[in-house]
Amino acid sequence: MQPLCPAKAPESANDDRFEGLVRLARRHFGVVAALLATGATDRPRVRAYDGPASDKAWRFEPFDPALHGGDALIQVPDIQVDERLREHALLRAMPQARFLAACPLPHAGGEVSGALYLLDCQPRALDPAQQHMLRELAGLAADLLAREAADARLRREMEALRASERRMALAITGSGTGIWDRNVATGEIHYSSGWKALLGYAEHEIGNRIEESYTRVHPADLDYVRATIQAHFEQRTEAYEVEHRLRCRDGGYKWVCSRGKVVERDAVGAPLRMIGTTTDITALREMAERVQRSAALMTDLTNEIPGMAFQYRRGADGRSSFPYVSGGARDIYGLAAECLMDRAEALQAIIHPDDLAHYHQSLESSARHLTPWHLEYRVVLAGQGTLWRQGEARPKRLDDGSVLWHGFITDITERKAIEAELQLFATTDFLTELSNRRHFMQQLDAELVRVRRKPDHAATILMFDLDHFKAINDRWGHSVGDQALRHFASILCTQLRRTDAAGRMGGEEFAVVLGNATLDHAIAFARRIQAELDKAPVLHGNERIPLTVSIGVTAIQALDPSAEAALSRSDMALYRAKRGGRNRIECHNGAA
Ligand code: GH3
Ligand code: MG
Ligand code: MG
Repeated sequence: MQPLCPAKAPESANDDRFEGLVRLARRHFGVVAALLATGATDRPRVRAYDGPASDKAWRFEPFDPALHGGDALIQVPDIQVDERLREHALLRAMPQARFLAACPLPHAGGEVSGALYLLDCQPRALDPAQQHMLRELAGLAADLLAREAADARLRREMEALRASERRMALAITGSGTGIWDRNVATGEIHYSSGWKALLGYAEHEIGNRIEESYTRVHPADLDYVRATIQAHFEQRTEAYEVEHRLRCRDGGYKWVCSRGKVVERDAVGAPLRMIGTTTDITALREMAERVQRSAALMTDLTNEIPGMAFQYRRGADGRSSFPYVSGGARDIYGLAAECLMDRAEALQAIIHPDDLAHYHQSLESSARHLTPWHLEYRVVLAGQGTLWRQGEARPKRLDDGSVLWHGFITDITERKAIEAELQLFATTDFLTELSNRRHFMQQLDAELVRVRRKPDHAATILMFDLDHFKAINDRWGHSVGDQALRHFASILCTQLRRTDAAGRMGGEEFAVVLGNATLDHAIAFARRIQAELDKAPVLHGNERIPLTVSIGVTAIQALDPSAEAALSRSDMALYRAKRGGRNRIECHNGAA
């Protein structure tokens, strides 16, 4: 007879029980061998065996399920006459076997989880009582197997739980969090090692009394901490959460966030047990403070320095908004920053109507070419009148096709006033407030350009020189001379149209350029000036100061190479007027 050996050494406490069970079966039925196989269809193996021993290895194979006919007990009284089992591994291992009984192990799921076998070398048959006994034993084995499976499952779950606990503990340690567990009734509190490490204490350096815990809380935070815990004890809050300082082993303080919850209360709701965590938020608070400081600095910078910092955004659909406007909006546009952020269109009513189109065009061009925006424009503010503003901003295109500018608006009203004053200073004759020679020449140049551009545009130039002016100075003094110069200038001004210009060319010489005027118009103008001078003399006390003027007239011609050329023709005419006896008007018709 060939021996059967278990494929594996015993692996659990259950193996002994299985061994005992097959021993019992063998003895009870008085068979040569009893065997328990598990894993009926997958990974079948001999779980326990009792029979003739040998060191020859034996490999078990699953039964053909058809053989079992489901979960029924089968017995083959004489194998020699039953062909179904000829090829079975059991019989290959024990060729002399004649009898075989197999009772499948019932399984809760309905599947067969193995079988209990009896083998004998004599043909035989089990009577109903023996069959019942075999089923009982198989049921016992099945229960053992089920319990074993449940134990294995539990072990796996426990293992998974322990692994997750380890991960959690590591995560908590890594995040600078400690855990505490407080028995409210006894006043005991236990801290995790991570908690102690958080404050720099070794395992044995922290006591477990709540009174001691409170000594580590910063005195300034203690009342607040106690009040917050009390509120939770009294169930006024869902959980306890408070930020405060805790003293470390080295005497310094750390900012922590302490969170907890009562997990057990007595019948009347009084807290019994509370668990919670303590997280080091020192770094977080420092960062928050840094962010707050730099935000405050930003706000101060943008709000306190004169002018208005802004972000202006124009969407691909053409709609615009101010995502950010500093407090300077109040000074620059007379509006609260929030108003402008809410309604960018408010500017329409604030920008000077004459500058509005230019304002929009300049932004349009900046958006199209992504070039810096620079504009000087006027605003009209209630109660303040017209003021000058200067805008500077850099555009950038965003992914959604919109354009975002970052920029600054400043008040340039004063600069503009100074510029205007300087401009006046640079272009005006101080005594008479007419254009000075340089500025008059520019005006004459502009007129020449107009004449050249439009051949039918007639323009004339007149030169004036007061007669015997030296004699006035000599007789009445220089200031009376000045008075006479101002008097003559004012007469000139009363006769000028908007398109004309007058200038003091030096000493007692003046010039006028008349736009849209022929020589005849110019002569008429000259006559009016002489008549006015005659009509309204300069008076010194009651004394009338004789003042006449000689005038040279000429037309500005498109072929004139320069304004100087036209001017020198009028000068020649003036010279003729002087030579002809003064207080006269002379024309120069031809080229210079
Ligand atoms: P004419 O009829 O030939 O033009 O004689 P005139 O005396 O007017 O001419 P002249 O060129 O000899 O003298 C011009 C005088 O004008 C000399 C100068 O003292 C005077 N004059 C020039 N500038 C001023 C000024 O700003 N104020 C005063 N009061 N006199 C001035
Ligand atoms: Mg002169
Ligand atoms: Mg003169």
